[in-house]
Amino acid sequence: MSLVVVGSMAFDAIETPFGKSDKIIGGAGTYIAWCASNYTPVKQISVVGGDFPQAELDILTERGVDLEGVQIKKDEKTFFWSGRYHMDMNTRDTLDTQLNVLGSFEPVVPESYQDCEFLMLGNLAPSVQRSVIQQLKTRPKLIVMDTMNFWMEIAMDDLKQTLAMVDLLMVNDSEARELSGEYSLVKAAAKIMQMGPKYLIIKKGEHGALLFHGSKVFFAPALPLEEVFDPTGAGDTFAGGFIGHIAKTKDISFENMKTAIIVGSAMASFCVEKFGTQRLREINKADIDARLDEFVQLVNFDIQLGN
Ligand code: AMP
Repeated sequence: MSLVVVGSMAFDAIETPFGKSDKIIGGAGTYIAWCASNYTPVKQISVVGGDFPQAELDILTERGVDLEGVQIKKDEKTFFWSGRYHMDMNTRDTLDTQLNVLGSFEPVVPESYQDCEFLMLGNLAPSVQRSVIQQLKTRPKLIVMDTMNFWMEIAMDDLKQTLAMVDLLMVNDSEARELSGEYSLVKAAAKIMQMGPKYLIIKKGEHGALLFHGSKVFFAPALPLEEVFDPTGAGDTFAGGFIGHIAKTKDISFENMKTAIIVGSAMASFCVEKFGTQRLREINKADIDARLDEFVQLVNFDIQLGN
Protein backbone atom coordinates (compact mmCIF):
# COMPACT_ATOMS: atom_id res chain seq x y z
CA MET A 1 0.00 0.00 0.00
CA SER A 2 1.46 3.37 -0.88
CA LEU A 3 1.32 7.13 -1.22
CA VAL A 4 1.45 8.39 -4.80
CA VAL A 5 2.34 12.06 -5.36
CA VAL A 6 1.80 13.96 -8.59
CA GLY A 7 3.17 17.48 -9.05
CA SER A 8 5.52 19.79 -10.88
CA MET A 9 9.28 19.49 -10.47
CA ALA A 10 10.80 22.80 -11.40
CA PHE A 11 13.36 25.53 -11.47
CA ASP A 12 12.23 28.62 -9.57
CA ALA A 13 13.58 32.16 -9.37
CA ILE A 14 12.31 33.97 -6.31
CA GLU A 15 12.40 37.61 -5.18
CA THR A 16 11.47 38.60 -1.66
CA PRO A 17 11.94 41.91 0.18
CA PHE A 18 14.98 40.22 1.80
CA GLY A 19 16.75 38.81 -1.21
CA LYS A 20 16.72 37.19 -4.58
CA SER A 21 17.52 33.61 -5.55
CA ASP A 22 19.17 32.34 -8.70
CA LYS A 23 17.46 29.47 -10.50
CA ILE A 24 16.90 26.99 -7.68
CA ILE A 25 15.15 23.65 -7.41
CA GLY A 26 11.42 23.96 -6.79
CA GLY A 27 8.11 22.60 -7.91
CA ALA A 28 5.02 21.50 -6.01
CA GLY A 29 5.87 17.80 -6.39
CA THR A 30 9.42 18.40 -5.17
CA TYR A 31 8.29 20.13 -1.96
CA ILE A 32 5.65 17.47 -1.30
CA ALA A 33 8.17 14.66 -1.78
CA TRP A 34 10.80 16.28 0.46
CA CYS A 35 8.23 16.73 3.20
CA ALA A 36 6.11 13.55 2.97
CA SER A 37 9.20 11.32 2.84
CA ASN A 38 9.72 12.16 6.52
CA TYR A 39 6.64 10.06 7.21
CA THR A 40 6.28 7.38 4.55
CA PRO A 41 7.79 6.16 1.26
CA VAL A 42 6.58 8.16 -1.75
CA LYS A 43 5.89 7.10 -5.35
CA GLN A 44 6.39 10.20 -7.48
CA ILE A 45 4.80 11.12 -10.83
CA SER A 46 6.23 14.11 -12.69
CA VAL A 47 8.31 15.22 -15.65
CA VAL A 48 11.64 17.05 -15.94
CA GLY A 49 13.89 18.11 -18.80
CA GLY A 50 17.47 17.05 -19.51
CA ASP A 51 18.62 20.16 -17.61
CA PHE A 52 17.31 18.87 -14.24
CA PRO A 53 20.30 17.78 -12.12
CA GLN A 54 20.66 14.01 -11.72
CA ALA A 55 22.02 14.63 -8.19
CA GLU A 56 18.62 16.09 -7.22
CA LEU A 57 16.88 12.94 -8.38
CA ASP A 58 19.43 10.75 -6.59
CA ILE A 59 18.97 12.51 -3.28
CA LEU A 60 15.21 12.03 -3.47
CA THR A 61 15.72 8.34 -4.21
CA GLU A 62 17.93 8.08 -1.12
CA ARG A 63 15.07 9.54 0.93
CA GLY A 64 12.69 6.81 -0.19
CA VAL A 65 11.06 8.60 -3.13
CA ASP A 66 10.43 6.15 -5.98
CA LEU A 67 10.99 7.97 -9.28
CA GLU A 68 9.78 5.29 -11.70
CA GLY A 69 6.87 7.58 -12.61
CA VAL A 70 9.09 10.61 -13.29
CA GLN A 71 9.72 11.08 -17.00
CA ILE A 72 13.02 12.65 -18.11
CA LYS A 73 12.74 14.42 -21.48
CA LYS A 74 16.42 14.66 -22.37
CA ASP A 75 16.06 17.24 -25.15
CA GLU A 76 13.59 19.53 -23.42
CA LYS A 77 13.62 22.07 -20.62
CA THR A 78 12.26 21.71 -17.10
CA PHE A 79 9.23 23.77 -16.01
CA PHE A 80 10.28 27.25 -14.85
CA TRP A 81 8.43 29.56 -12.47
CA SER A 82 9.38 32.93 -11.13
CA GLY A 83 7.63 35.01 -8.48
CA ARG A 84 8.01 38.16 -6.39
CA TYR A 85 6.66 38.57 -2.86
CA HIS A 86 5.19 41.77 -1.50
CA MET A 87 6.34 43.24 1.81
CA ASP A 88 3.68 41.33 3.80
CA MET A 89 4.96 38.01 2.33
CA ASN A 90 1.36 36.76 2.13
CA THR A 91 0.85 37.96 -1.42
CA ARG A 92 3.01 37.46 -4.47
CA ASP A 93 3.01 38.12 -8.19
CA THR A 94 3.91 35.45 -10.68
CA LEU A 95 6.53 37.04 -12.95
CA ASP A 96 6.95 34.14 -15.36
CA THR A 97 5.59 30.65 -15.96
CA GLN A 98 7.33 28.60 -18.66
CA LEU A 99 5.56 25.27 -18.86
CA ASN A 100 8.26 23.67 -21.08
CA VAL A 101 8.04 19.86 -20.46
CA LEU A 102 4.88 20.34 -18.42
CA GLY A 103 3.02 21.69 -21.46
CA SER A 104 2.85 18.31 -23.18
CA PHE A 105 3.08 16.06 -20.12
CA GLU A 106 1.13 12.81 -20.35
CA PRO A 107 1.61 10.96 -17.08
CA VAL A 108 2.00 7.20 -17.13
CA VAL A 109 1.21 5.42 -13.88
CA PRO A 110 3.69 2.51 -13.49
CA GLU A 111 2.27 -0.93 -12.66
CA SER A 112 4.16 -0.82 -9.34
CA TYR A 113 2.11 2.26 -8.31
CA GLN A 114 -1.22 0.42 -8.64
CA ASP A 115 -1.20 -0.34 -4.89
CA CYS A 116 -1.85 3.38 -4.31
CA GLU A 117 -3.92 3.86 -1.17
CA PHE A 118 -3.44 7.61 -0.82
CA LEU A 119 -3.17 9.96 -3.78
CA MET A 120 -1.82 13.50 -3.48
CA LEU A 121 -2.52 15.55 -6.60
CA GLY A 122 -0.09 18.43 -6.24
CA ASN A 123 -0.37 21.60 -8.26
CA LEU A 124 -0.29 20.80 -11.98
CA ALA A 125 -2.64 20.89 -14.98
CA PRO A 126 -6.03 19.55 -13.80
CA SER A 127 -6.24 17.29 -16.87
CA VAL A 128 -2.97 15.63 -15.81
CA GLN A 129 -4.27 15.20 -12.27
CA ARG A 130 -7.44 13.59 -13.68
CA SER A 131 -5.50 11.27 -15.97
CA VAL A 132 -3.68 9.81 -12.95
CA ILE A 133 -6.98 9.14 -11.14
CA GLN A 134 -8.32 7.44 -14.28
CA GLN A 135 -5.25 5.22 -14.70
CA LEU A 136 -5.56 3.77 -11.20
CA LYS A 137 -7.46 0.48 -11.36
CA THR A 138 -8.59 0.67 -7.71
CA ARG A 139 -9.80 3.97 -6.31
CA PRO A 140 -7.47 5.18 -3.52
CA LYS A 141 -8.88 5.52 0.00
CA LEU A 142 -8.29 9.26 -0.10
CA ILE A 143 -7.65 11.59 -3.05
CA VAL A 144 -6.35 15.05 -2.11
CA MET A 145 -6.05 17.82 -4.69
CA ASP A 146 -4.11 21.07 -4.60
CA THR A 147 -4.42 23.69 -7.32
CA MET A 148 -3.86 27.41 -7.91
CA ASN A 149 -5.34 30.52 -9.52
CA PHE A 150 -3.23 29.96 -12.67
CA TRP A 151 -5.35 26.89 -13.55
CA MET A 152 -8.60 28.63 -12.58
CA GLU A 153 -7.79 31.30 -15.11
CA ILE A 154 -6.83 29.06 -18.04
CA ALA A 155 -8.56 25.71 -17.35
CA MET A 156 -11.59 26.25 -15.09
CA ASP A 157 -13.78 23.62 -16.81
CA ASP A 158 -11.03 21.04 -16.56
CA LEU A 159 -10.43 21.96 -12.96
CA LYS A 160 -14.11 21.47 -12.09
CA GLN A 161 -14.13 18.03 -13.75
CA THR A 162 -11.17 16.93 -11.64
CA LEU A 163 -12.65 18.51 -8.53
CA ALA A 164 -15.74 16.32 -8.91
CA MET A 165 -13.52 13.22 -8.54
CA VAL A 166 -11.57 14.05 -5.38
CA ASP A 167 -12.23 13.76 -1.63
CA LEU A 168 -10.36 16.80 -0.35
CA LEU A 169 -9.34 20.10 -1.93
CA MET A 170 -6.62 22.40 -0.59
CA VAL A 171 -6.54 26.01 -1.74
CA ASN A 172 -5.61 29.37 -0.26
CA ASP A 173 -8.21 31.95 0.71
CA SER A 174 -8.05 34.00 -2.50
CA GLU A 175 -8.31 30.83 -4.60
CA ALA A 176 -11.34 29.68 -2.57
CA ARG A 177 -12.97 33.05 -3.28
CA GLU A 178 -12.10 32.88 -6.97
CA LEU A 179 -13.41 29.33 -7.33
CA SER A 180 -16.69 29.95 -5.49
CA GLY A 181 -17.39 33.60 -6.29
CA GLU A 182 -18.09 34.11 -2.57
CA TYR A 183 -16.17 36.47 -0.28
CA SER A 184 -17.15 34.79 2.99
CA LEU A 185 -14.92 31.75 3.42
CA VAL A 186 -17.75 29.86 5.13
CA LYS A 187 -20.03 30.43 2.14
CA ALA A 188 -17.15 29.66 -0.23
CA ALA A 189 -16.51 26.37 1.58
CA ALA A 190 -20.17 25.33 1.35
CA LYS A 191 -20.18 26.03 -2.40
CA ILE A 192 -16.89 24.25 -3.08
CA MET A 193 -17.98 21.16 -1.14
CA GLN A 194 -20.99 20.98 -3.48
CA MET A 195 -18.59 20.74 -6.43
CA GLY A 196 -17.31 17.33 -5.30
CA PRO A 197 -14.86 17.24 -2.39
CA LYS A 198 -16.38 16.34 0.98
CA TYR A 199 -13.46 17.96 2.76
CA LEU A 200 -11.90 21.36 2.13
CA ILE A 201 -8.79 22.99 3.53
CA ILE A 202 -8.43 26.74 3.12
CA LYS A 203 -4.88 27.95 3.77
CA LYS A 204 -4.44 31.50 5.03
CA GLY A 205 -0.66 31.88 5.03
CA GLU A 206 0.59 33.29 8.31
CA HIS A 207 -3.00 33.20 9.60
CA GLY A 208 -3.22 29.40 9.64
CA ALA A 209 -5.58 26.97 7.92
CA LEU A 210 -9.23 25.94 8.15
CA LEU A 211 -10.53 22.40 7.66
CA PHE A 212 -14.20 22.08 6.61
CA HIS A 213 -16.34 18.94 6.46
CA GLY A 214 -20.13 19.23 6.28
CA SER A 215 -21.00 21.64 9.08
CA LYS A 216 -17.77 20.93 11.01
CA VAL A 217 -14.86 23.38 11.02
CA PHE A 218 -11.41 23.09 12.60
CA PHE A 219 -8.74 25.79 12.71
CA ALA A 220 -4.96 25.36 12.97
CA PRO A 221 -2.77 28.44 13.45
CA ALA A 222 0.53 29.03 11.72
CA LEU A 223 3.49 29.26 14.06
CA PRO A 224 4.26 32.95 14.74
CA LEU A 225 7.79 33.25 13.32
CA GLU A 226 10.11 36.15 13.86
CA GLU A 227 11.21 36.03 10.25
CA VAL A 228 9.62 34.59 7.13
CA PHE A 229 12.39 34.36 4.59
CA ASP A 230 10.68 32.75 1.58
CA PRO A 231 7.11 31.39 1.60
CA THR A 232 7.53 29.53 -1.71
CA GLY A 233 6.48 25.93 -1.37
CA ALA A 234 4.84 26.44 2.03
CA GLY A 235 1.50 25.26 0.63
CA ASP A 236 3.07 22.19 -0.96
CA THR A 237 5.02 21.41 2.19
CA PHE A 238 1.77 21.73 4.16
CA ALA A 239 0.22 19.24 1.70
CA GLY A 240 3.20 16.88 2.12
CA GLY A 241 2.92 16.93 5.91
CA PHE A 242 -0.85 16.47 5.79
CA ILE A 243 -0.86 13.51 3.41
CA GLY A 244 2.35 12.07 4.93
CA HIS A 245 0.68 11.87 8.34
CA ILE A 246 -2.55 10.41 6.88
CA ALA A 247 -0.63 7.79 4.87
CA LYS A 248 1.51 6.84 7.86
CA THR A 249 -1.47 6.42 10.20
CA LYS A 250 -3.86 5.09 7.48
CA ASP A 251 -6.70 6.88 9.25
CA ILE A 252 -8.94 9.20 7.22
CA SER A 253 -11.26 10.29 10.03
CA PHE A 254 -11.97 14.00 10.60
CA GLU A 255 -10.24 13.70 14.00
CA ASN A 256 -7.05 12.43 12.39
CA MET A 257 -7.24 15.12 9.71
CA LYS A 258 -7.08 17.67 12.55
CA THR A 259 -3.73 16.20 13.59
CA ALA A 260 -2.66 16.10 9.94
CA ILE A 261 -3.23 19.83 9.47
CA ILE A 262 -1.15 20.54 12.58
CA VAL A 263 1.61 18.35 11.11
CA GLY A 264 1.25 20.20 7.78
CA SER A 265 1.43 23.58 9.51
CA ALA A 266 4.51 22.55 11.50
CA MET A 267 6.31 21.35 8.36
CA ALA A 268 5.36 24.52 6.45
CA SER A 269 6.85 26.62 9.27
CA PHE A 270 10.26 25.09 8.49
CA CYS A 271 9.91 25.63 4.75
CA VAL A 272 9.61 29.42 5.02
CA GLU A 273 12.77 29.81 7.11
CA LYS A 274 15.14 29.61 4.12
CA PHE A 275 15.05 29.93 0.34
CA GLY A 276 13.51 27.08 -1.66
CA THR A 277 13.80 23.54 -0.31
CA GLN A 278 16.92 24.38 1.74
CA ARG A 279 15.40 24.10 5.21
CA LEU A 280 13.54 20.87 4.38
CA ARG A 281 16.89 19.30 3.50
CA GLU A 282 18.40 20.15 6.89
CA ILE A 283 15.77 19.11 9.41
CA ASN A 284 15.65 15.77 11.21
CA LYS A 285 13.10 13.93 13.33
CA ALA A 286 14.18 15.69 16.54
CA ASP A 287 13.64 19.12 14.90
CA ILE A 288 10.20 18.04 13.69
CA ASP A 289 9.18 16.66 17.09
CA ALA A 290 10.32 19.85 18.83
CA ARG A 291 8.35 21.99 16.36
CA LEU A 292 5.23 19.89 16.85
CA ASP A 293 5.62 20.40 20.58
CA GLU A 294 5.70 24.17 20.04
CA PHE A 295 2.42 23.86 18.17
CA VAL A 296 0.82 21.91 20.96
CA GLN A 297 1.92 24.63 23.43
CA LEU A 298 0.60 27.33 21.08
CA VAL A 299 -2.95 26.03 20.96
CA ASN A 300 -3.27 24.19 24.25
CA PHE A 301 -5.52 25.94 26.71
CA ASP A 302 -7.93 25.05 29.46
CA ILE A 303 -10.80 27.36 30.13
CA GLN A 304 -13.05 27.35 33.14
CA LEU A 305 -16.44 28.91 32.60
CA GLY A 306 -17.96 30.12 35.87
CA ASN A 307 -21.73 29.91 36.23
P1 AMP B 1 3.39 27.28 -3.33
O1 AMP B 1 4.27 28.38 -2.82
O2 AMP B 1 3.12 26.22 -2.32
O3 AMP B 1 2.16 27.80 -4.00
O4 AMP B 1 4.19 26.52 -4.48
C1 AMP B 1 5.22 27.09 -5.22
C2 AMP B 1 5.75 26.06 -6.20
O5 AMP B 1 4.74 25.78 -7.18
C3 AMP B 1 6.96 26.57 -6.93
O6 AMP B 1 8.07 25.78 -6.58
C4 AMP B 1 6.62 26.46 -8.42
O7 AMP B 1 7.61 25.80 -9.15
C5 AMP B 1 5.32 25.67 -8.46
N1 AMP B 1 4.38 26.24 -9.43
C6 AMP B 1 4.12 27.54 -9.66
N2 AMP B 1 3.19 27.68 -10.65
C7 AMP B 1 2.86 26.43 -11.04
C8 AMP B 1 1.95 25.89 -12.02
N3 AMP B 1 1.21 26.69 -12.78
N4 AMP B 1 1.87 24.55 -12.14
C9 AMP B 1 2.61 23.76 -11.35
N5 AMP B 1 3.48 24.17 -10.43
C10 AMP B 1 3.61 25.50 -10.26
